[in-house]
Amino acid sequence: MVKLMEFIDEKYINSLIADKSLKDRNLQLSIIEKALERKGISLNESAALLNITDKDILVKLFEAAKQIKESIYGNRLVMFAPLYLTNACVNNCLYCSFRKDNKELVRRTLTVDEIENEARQLIIDGHKRLLLVCGEHPKESNLDYVGKAIERIYSIDYKGNNIRRVNVNIAPLTTDDFKILHSFEIGTYQIFQETYHYETYLKMHPSGPKKDYVFRLHAPERAFEAGIDDLGIGALFGLTDYRFELLAMLMHAEYLDKTLGVGPHTISIPRLEPAVNAPAAECPPHAVEDLSFKKMIAILRLAVPYTGIILSTREKAELRRDLFNVGVSQISAGSKTTPGGYKKEIKDSTNEFGQFQLGDHRSLNEVVQDVCQLGYIPSFCTACYRSGRTGDRFMELAKSGKIGKICTPNALATFKEYLLDFSTNGSTEKNEAALMKQVDELPEKEKKATQKMIAKLENGERDVYF
Ligand code: SAM
Ligand code: SF4
Repeated sequence: MVKLMEFIDEKYINSLIADKSLKDRNLQLSIIEKALERKGISLNESAALLNITDKDILVKLFEAAKQIKESIYGNRLVMFAPLYLTNACVNNCLYCSFRKDNKELVRRTLTVDEIENEARQLIIDGHKRLLLVCGEHPKESNLDYVGKAIERIYSIDYKGNNIRRVNVNIAPLTTDDFKILHSFEIGTYQIFQETYHYETYLKMHPSGPKKDYVFRLHAPERAFEAGIDDLGIGALFGLTDYRFELLAMLMHAEYLDKTLGVGPHTISIPRLEPAVNAPAAECPPHAVEDLSFKKMIAILRLAVPYTGIILSTREKAELRRDLFNVGVSQISAGSKTTPGGYKKEIKDSTNEFGQFQLGDHRSLNEVVQDVCQLGYIPSFCTACYRSGRTGDRFMELAKSGKIGKICTPNALATFKEYLLDFSTNGSTEKNEAALMKQVDELPEKEKKATQKMIAKLENGERDVYF
């Protein structure tokens, strides 16, 4: 068991955190300079950047993160929303409201018809990409149920609009079960280790199948073996020292890159939020304050330049705006963490709290408008996954600098489609103007391709991409 997890070398990580030679300003500046080559930085270089305290160096770090993200992916921000199927759970994670010992929570598992209602509402809001989320329960959220849910979600057609990519965040499976999950045509399989710190992990997961650290840690390899090559990892920041968590997560990413030939497609950075009847969430043992959180995200962008960084509605709108500047590439919007939350079918007040408390309660439309006015392109693109550009094929494109040439036109076309079908509250004109400005600024070849797609959309075609 120890052998299986030895790539998370706790001793080495702690030695990097304690290493005084990594506090050198000139060293930090040279690492930031080197990172601009977009080849990533080593673990001890990331540790050195974690030591930055000088304000000027911090500004340079943030600028570098923004520059790297934009040089690879352009200024698009991919939008998605979570869809919770059930809050039934056999685990007892000390930070989560869905934990088995929370007897006050009314348990609810959506029927396939209710799941359709939820997904339809999200389509009407303008979403194209969902993240399916479940508590872990052998009866309530088994694979058969998950498969039926995904099949139904993909089958919905609302005036030519539909959900085009279903990513999944569910408990780890065996390789054989991952093969079944793969057959449901999912996008990314996401799994957060929560904390890479072994002792803390055991404390936080006192009972249920999730207490098995090693089984969870190796889920990405099993999923990959089963054919799922877009994998998402993450840590729940606040359970242990964020510096340890970041370095361990980077070790994990490096390990996956080496053993699978492709690193994680995405990294998520959930921060511990208040949750009802969840003792660790009421008083986070290692709360991460905003500036450290921002620094951590910027370092992540320098260390793994090609990996998508996902920021959720756990964070408040104002902070989210600031964090878009340091390399975030995907965001959730208009989210609910309660099964049935989008159609407001649940009346019970305890359930209204959802899995945890959210920081950004704005609708998708409000977020889109805000993002757009900040100079980003809200993207609803799902083209890569549907064109077979997943796993190492996606990474090759990203590393060769070609992905931006695909991302930006597709982002603009899907944004146009959104404006045609779903924009409300008088925001359309402003957003149209921002869109056309972005199209005008494109290099000639991409501009023509984008204009062609926009013309098709204006003529009534839908789901246009390349
Ligand atoms: N139940 C499955 C599992 O735990 O693997 C599926 C994912 S769980 C429903 C979604 C994620 O929510 C967890 O992996 C955890 O990181 C996050 N989460 C749980 N409690 C949280 C809290 N209080 N604040 C922020 N995120 C939380
Ligand atoms: Fe269950 Fe996941 Fe919540 Fe843990 S984090 S109690 S496994 S839903």
